[in-house]
Amino acid sequence: MTTYFTYPSAELQKELTRIAQAIVAPGKGILAADESVSTMGKRLKDIGVENTEDNRRAYRQLLFTADPKVADNISGVILFHETLYQKADDGTPFVELLKKRGIIPGIKVDKGVVPLMGSEDECTTQGLDDLAARCAQYKKDGCDFAKWRSVLKIGKNTPSYQAIQENATVLARYASICQSQGIVPIVEPEVLPDGEHDLERAQKVTETVLAACYKALNDHHVFLEGTLLKPNMVTAGQSCPKKNTPQEVALATVTALRRTVPAAVPGITFLSGGQSEEEASVHLNAINQVPLLKPWALTFSYGRALQASVLRAWGGKKENVAAGQNELIKRAKANALACQGKYEAGSIPSYAANASLFIASHKY
Ligand code: 13P
Repeated sequence: MTTYFTYPSAELQKELTRIAQAIVAPGKGILAADESVSTMGKRLKDIGVENTEDNRRAYRQLLFTADPKVADNISGVILFHETLYQKADDGTPFVELLKKRGIIPGIKVDKGVVPLMGSEDECTTQGLDDLAARCAQYKKDGCDFAKWRSVLKIGKNTPSYQAIQENATVLARYASICQSQGIVPIVEPEVLPDGEHDLERAQKVTETVLAACYKALNDHHVFLEGTLLKPNMVTAGQSCPKKNTPQEVALATVTALRRTVPAAVPGITFLSGGQSEEEASVHLNAINQVPLLKPWALTFSYGRALQASVLRAWGGKKENVAAGQNELIKRAKANALACQGKYEAGSIPSYAANASLFIASHKY
């Protein structure tokens, strides 16, 4: 095994570090608004809105024209390719709207999951082939960070060695390509919550998956100070009969992270993974209250748990845009408090606060 390597130039290291640290600045987190066209279609269908390009644009406009004070709590937004090139009604490109508010634009760069032959319904994520060229263009067009989602499933025999190794390697290669173009990679190995497994099994699987990821990132000489991790919280499977307290979830999550994530990583931005809005805030709060050394910022990069109430309050109606924006401000505030361990359960009610957002075998 060779240990020859070259890290990025001092200048590039500085740029990547600056971006990563700005995203996880105290009291801030990410709005994941990078739903693909088909996933956005499902969200719109739920509220009786047709999945047209203009309806998707109108919805994203609602998000990006909310009161600028939202930027006190939201540091970055992850966009889908189509959204990056859309404009507000007055012709202002969305990317400019975000930057004016001091919000960092990010971009989903993976091209979705595909099956792994010979596995028990496991998958890998594609999109590496032209990634350097796409990242170069996205950087020019205003994006400073990227996301790539890998998916691992818990079953009797899964995740398999094949799936763990493949996804770790793909994530590392993605991270390395992003960094070569000045883009901070968010590494997202999501262990799905589907199944009957208990908290202990979820913890062990998460530890094994994260350990493989950080080995692969090291093998690819990825500069960890210029990365972020987007993991699942450690929770029992959705169909597990035993329910855990927020404190149990928090301890299992922090324990798994402490065992596997190097202290050089500046921040961990959790996905919400089908938790209700309130659950996602309460869990994040409990995680930040765990009385153990936590060398990274622990914050949010929520999709469903930041948008469920917004979508319902809006319902596709012009006259409800302000009501939708108000829900976004409230959930952003709740999670901004939670990432500092200062959120009081139930203190910020929202439209869909306790509604389950679980979707079996979730695609993004
Ligand atoms: P959820 O918060 O809805 O799980 O989505 C976050 C995300 O970006 C998944 O890739």
